[in-house]
Amino acid sequence: DSSSRRRPMLKQERSELPFVLKKMAQGMPDYITMDRALIADLAEVAKDEALLQGVLMRIQEASNSSELVTYAPFTLFPTPVPKAVFLQALAVQTHYNTLVDRISQDPDFLQEALASTIEVDDFTARLFRIHQQILKEGRAQSIVLGLNRSDYMLDQAKDGSVSLKQVEINTIAASFGGLSSRTADVHRHVLKVAGKLEESRRILDNDPASGLAPSGPPNVRDNVYTQEFVRNIFDQRYIESHLWKRNIPTIRKRFDNVSKTGSLDQDKKLFVDGREVAVVYFRNGYMPQNYVSEQTWDARLLMERSVAVKCPDISTHLAGTKKVQQVLARPGVLERFFPDQPGVVEQIRATFAGPLHSRHEGDKTVAMALAAPDQFVLKPQREGGGNNIYGAEICRVLQAAEGSSERTAYILMDKIQPAAVQNYLLRRDGPLEISNCLSELGVFGTYVRHGKDMVMNECAGHLLRTKSSEHSDGGVAAGVAVLDNPLLV
Ligand code: ADP
Ligand code: MG
Ligand code: MG
Repeated sequence: DSSSRRRPMLKQERSELPFVLKKMAQGMPDYITMDRALIADLAEVAKDEALLQGVLMRIQEASNSSELVTYAPFTLFPTPVPKAVFLQALAVQTHYNTLVDRISQDPDFLQEALASTIEVDDFTARLFRIHQQILKEGRAQSIVLGLNRSDYMLDQAKDGSVSLKQVEINTIAASFGGLSSRTADVHRHVLKVAGKLEESRRILDNDPASGLAPSGPPNVRDNVYTQEFVRNIFDQRYIESHLWKRNIPTIRKRFDNVSKTGSLDQDKKLFVDGREVAVVYFRNGYMPQNYVSEQTWDARLLMERSVAVKCPDISTHLAGTKKVQQVLARPGVLERFFPDQPGVVEQIRATFAGPLHSRHEGDKTVAMALAAPDQFVLKPQREGGGNNIYGAEICRVLQAAEGSSERTAYILMDKIQPAAVQNYLLRRDGPLEISNCLSELGVFGTYVRHGKDMVMNECAGHLLRTKSSEHSDGGVAAGVAVLDNPLLV
């Protein structure tokens, strides 16, 4: 009968939780202690399942073609994540959507926040000039499509309690929404094969790709898609594929293609290769290397000036800079964007990394960083991983820039100190060995604003990335982190 079917479930749920928590406190889920031969077998199973599920990447040596592909690097096992902080990250996402959107509509704030940075950082200055030109001309399009990813680490206090701390928010080209839609099934499969049926049920469904596929008027016009590093093409193809399923034509173009074949008509309609474009989704354009010539900068400007919906528009791109992140942490700044919503302010501020953040400009702060560099991360205005400065290098850079405005090119941030968890990182040609790992949780946000009205504002899913604790920096694209899934505990 139904009660006897239910009773063992409840008992299991009750006994399971403290067990997992205890293991997590030791940084060591029990499957880590499986014997070596079993782990090796599981790794083979896992890789094949990743290939079956389409968790794919081109190989480095042939990144321009799909003749040789492999699995995107991932962890053998999912990583325990406390349910409360996971839910907290999901719950705050729609507020982050609103925040970046409101910042993008506040030219005075952006001007003030970025003033010192654009004096010393040419890349940010060029982006800012495009933003200014658009303001001068007036925005041609009143619809804004936002797809961002807010990234966090779980800071562990001395008493063992963990808290959600934001690493950064990415408002342009936020990646891995595609592949992370497929990794849950891989980990479920691995856990089942490992005899961990109960754990396998706790891997959450996750489908950022369908949430991220920018919706547009079907069959009317094309969406153009500018591409990031092509090794990760399958992540983008997932989203492209979703659009085509909904009969929304999608074309992929590089900035240099757009500069050659792109034009605006007298109504500022954007044409690329003779086809009118409804939505421009940027998977490129966030680092200086993406702009290989003056023509590529012209292409960005052309798209920004057009009536096409930009995802993101230039102002939203700037709202995601690290300098803005730092300014937001100053007292009273969040209140400017949520004047009547102290609850929202509190919810967002709770995710900021450390109260020191806002004092990080003066000499006092620099002295603090020089005295304890391991407590900090020094970040330039760059994206894509591998740019940050740590430890003794912080002292070198800060001392070299002493008394000069060069310092304003960086933000100084409290280092988040997550607990290490052991896992196996599976990557092509990599050794199968146990690593001490740190994880970063990303949450995807999507929204559409039409004029003053938010017509859609959602949390679209999550991404867990894990790296060996030997590396202080770098994402999956940089070859350091690998894809993972949270196992809620
Ligand atoms: P990017 O835009 O290049 O991804 P991030 O701010 O995400 O820049 O920094 C890159 C990586 O550096 C992160 O993925 C994380 O591993 C590490 N990192 C950044 N900020 C911190 C921090 N405050 N504490 C600890 N690690 C950090
Ligand atoms: Mg970033
Ligand atoms: Mg990052």
